[in-house]
Amino acid sequence: MSRILLKPNKFAIFIETLIAKFLANGYRLQHTHNLKSVIQSQLETIKKAGTWKAERIIASPQRTQILLNNGKKVLNFCANNYLGLSDNPKVIEAAKNALDKYGAGLSSVRFICGTQEIHKELENKISAFHKREDTIVYASCFDANAGIFETLLTPEDTVLSDELNHASIIDGIRLCKAKKFRYKHRDMKDLEEKLNESSGSRLTLIATDGVFSMDGTVAPLKDIIELAKKYNALTFVDDCHATGFFGKTGRGTEEHFNYLGGVDIINSTLGKALGGAAGGYTTGPKELIALLRQRSRPYLFSNSLPPPVVASGIKVLDLISNSTDFLQRMEDNTHHFRSRMTSAGFIISGDNHPICPVMLGDAKLASDFAEKMLEKNIYVIGFSYPVVPREKARIRVQISAAHTKEEIDRAVDVFIEIGRELQVIQ
Ligand SMILES: *Cc1c(COP(=O)(O)O)cnc(C)c1O
Repeated sequence: MSRILLKPNKFAIFIETLIAKFLANGYRLQHTHNLKSVIQSQLETIKKAGTWKAERIIASPQRTQILLNNGKKVLNFCANNYLGLSDNPKVIEAAKNALDKYGAGLSSVRFICGTQEIHKELENKISAFHKREDTIVYASCFDANAGIFETLLTPEDTVLSDELNHASIIDGIRLCKAKKFRYKHRDMKDLEEKLNESSGSRLTLIATDGVFSMDGTVAPLKDIIELAKKYNALTFVDDCHATGFFGKTGRGTEEHFNYLGGVDIINSTLGKALGGAAGGYTTGPKELIALLRQRSRPYLFSNSLPPPVVASGIKVLDLISNSTDFLQRMEDNTHHFRSRMTSAGFIISGDNHPICPVMLGDAKLASDFAEKMLEKNIYVIGFSYPVVPREKARIRVQISAAHTKEEIDRAVDVFIEIGRELQVIQ
């Protein structure tokens, strides 16, 4: 305005800029202040509820003995590093080689210019591992779960989901327009009732975690598949806490039930047992995978997996596809931990899975117990409401193939010492 009315001169421009700055800052200050106070009260609520999650800072690779940034060396019993491959030298070397040969990243989604030969190799290896027709790789299993339901299911379809399914399945289902049923946790009677209610759909899909991570319990997959057959439904299993290490050769929950190939669709992660870098996938019928490549939004609109991550996934699959060495060590360790803890008087929940929840009941007891464990250099985490039901607080121990017997014995000894001190055991 001033420039149109007045002849532009330095003074006018100076005043104009000053006014503009003053207005912008005043607005921003007020705005920021409002944002901060709104969030602050939310943060207080979380802290008061006792569910605040503090992050411990690690200054070493992921492994059984880790270094915290306060200089403390601790024994780690809470990683999803079931096969101990997160810092496996061969995996690291493969990632480094891929960095040199294929670069740091693709700066593209898959369908534009983000598919390298190694991306196809990884997808083919995953298909071969699960004996499926095809596989689509995502940046994470959260993305795989976010993409599949919306792509596959329409208002003519029905999805039935275990009430304790992983958050990413719940969110994925929220995005789709199918009719939705939540059945009681692992309750086949309830599932069958809901299958009856939903008859007449174009597609009916039953969705479940293979293994439930808070309890180390397994979905009754055999019964689910039988029900699916009876009601002409499809089965979807999220096998993040099973792929690579559960079942006789690590093929996951369906193999655990001697039902290889029994599930229609498997989603899983490369971010847990399979090297732990990142990445998720859907594996199943080739028509489904083709449709996901055309329509799945987290796939179409998000960057390709970086080459070092792809290469570490490939290397892990090479290491575990024809050998059960890692799996065997993990099973031996799990058995050793569970049997020593049980004979000491602890209650360990779960179905012989390397997730070993040490049941304590009281929330304060669980967090005090975990704190005392850390003082003795054993890194474990207490879980309480709302992550697990009230009065079912626990310390979740996760066993790895990389743990030595001595490390497990050391953890059990400390559990016994503190368990006596806090009068959890005699
Ligand atoms: C960890 C987990 C996910 C998420 O996997 P990311 O690859 O880390 O995104 C999804 N579902 C289940 C059951 C999980 O345990």
